[in-house]
Amino acid sequence: MSDHCLFCRIVAGEIPAEVVRRENGMVAFNDINPKTPVHVLVIPERHVDSLAGVEGLTPEERSDMLAFIAAVARDHDLEGTGYRVTTNHGEDGRQSVHHLHWHVMGGTRMSDMM
Ligand code: AMP
Ligand code: ZN
Repeated sequence: MSDHCLFCRIVAGEIPAEVVRRENGMVAFNDINPKTPVHVLVIPERHVDSLAGVEGLTPEERSDMLAFIAAVARDHDLEGTGYRVTTNHGEDGRQSVHHLHWHVMGGTRMSDMM
């Protein structure tokens, strides 16, 4: 836990968030500035700065994280229509919050940029 990290503070309940799923050391909550009809952020409770620090998570956390992301998409009925999962690292990735998070986005047709 980092006192100065926004998402650690959400994990600790110090900052409110619309939590949609929480289990196995993972939390999913709605993005405060959604870019798509469904835009959920998935984070590990344990602080690592980004995907580049993923080895700071346990093997169980790493594998639970993937299953958790898929479950969030399923919760939102996105399996039939499709969805996109992204994570940003560093300046070129335009990462703005330095606690690993996955954007789970759906409910519309994504741009073909990637
Ligand atoms: P990134 O640019 O990949 O670091 O994404 C950070 C995301 O966090 C952005 O999509 C923001 O809209 C979102 N965000 C920032 N503050 C909050 C908050 N308090 N609650 C929920 N989402 C947030
Ligand atoms: Zn953090």
